[in-house]
Amino acid sequence: TSVLVDIQGLTVAYPTGDGLLHALRGVSLGIVPGEILGIVGESGCGKTTLAYTLLGDLGGNAEVAGTALFGGRDILRMDEAELRTMRGRHVAMVPQNPGEALNPARRVGEQLREVLAVHASLSGRDATARIVALLEKVHLPDPEGIMRRWPHELSGGQQQRLVIAMALLGGPELLVLDEPTTGLDVTVEAAVLDLLAELRRDLGVTIVLISHNLLTIARACDRVVVMYAGLVAETGPAAAIFAQPRHPYTRALLDCIPRIDRPRGAAEPAPIPGSLPSPFEALAGCSFANRCPYAMPACIQAPPPLLRVSDRHAAACIRWPEIPREPSAAEATAS
Ligand code: SF4
Repeated sequence: TSVLVDIQGLTVAYPTGDGLLHALRGVSLGIVPGEILGIVGESGCGKTTLAYTLLGDLGGNAEVAGTALFGGRDILRMDEAELRTMRGRHVAMVPQNPGEALNPARRVGEQLREVLAVHASLSGRDATARIVALLEKVHLPDPEGIMRRWPHELSGGQQQRLVIAMALLGGPELLVLDEPTTGLDVTVEAAVLDLLAELRRDLGVTIVLISHNLLTIARACDRVVVMYAGLVAETGPAAAIFAQPRHPYTRALLDCIPRIDRPRGAAEPAPIPGSLPSPFEALAGCSFANRCPYAMPACIQAPPPLLRVSDRHAAACIRWPEIPREPSAAEATAS
């Protein structure tokens, strides 16, 4: 299959007063045109750095190695002019907090016109037509009315739809969404995720969805990349990963999800004990070893490579064939 984005051996580190902070420690992954790819992990796992890589926005002091090809061109080596063309027109980001991304002091329509003007020189009437069409596309009712409103007059769900429309103004091939449903209630979240599926179907846009929430990812994505400590822990089709995770970290994340069928009075699932390895230290062995119930001496001798589980499924765990489908008996009695 052809890939839209091909990332190979990507490492990103930032010099800080406390030493070098390792944000990504050697990530390789491809993004297939037309897919909805979920990137999931705890904060500090590197998922946001990966998103900023796609936008060529790692910051001037980042120490970067590896390649990130977009349509054959390396994003990591583009100059400012190339990056300006790429952002918005080829890759667009929907920011984490729409309320903050919108200028509270300007009407919605003015902000949309301003973004559109960066990408296309259209007459006033053509610009309005283009904006109205996109607002309809994201199912905002009464687009012309919305354009006259102030951002604070819109609900959280409407603001989220608005920033998605804004990101689509340049006609990007790749849309990156960073925690797009944080703070939205379950019904509104479901509607936003349905919208993403619709945009992929109707516009053919490829979508990368970044979230710490496995349920959000499970609901919306075709394929999943589970990140841990700046590395890919597991990757594969969403259905395969949720049916049978092969990395103990993915298994642990799934076990943390509260289940509706949990018997009354049963304890809530505990978060994963232990913490991420320090981002300031180099890793000698498996990054998950200090929290892993399956760890053994071989695990701390060398970092495990991504091992092939099946055609498109891989896990960075030397014991992947032994990881149980269901929470282990010990964990089940402990809860
Ligand atoms: Fe656990 Fe070892 Fe697998 Fe790492 S390689 S996840 S420590 S079993």
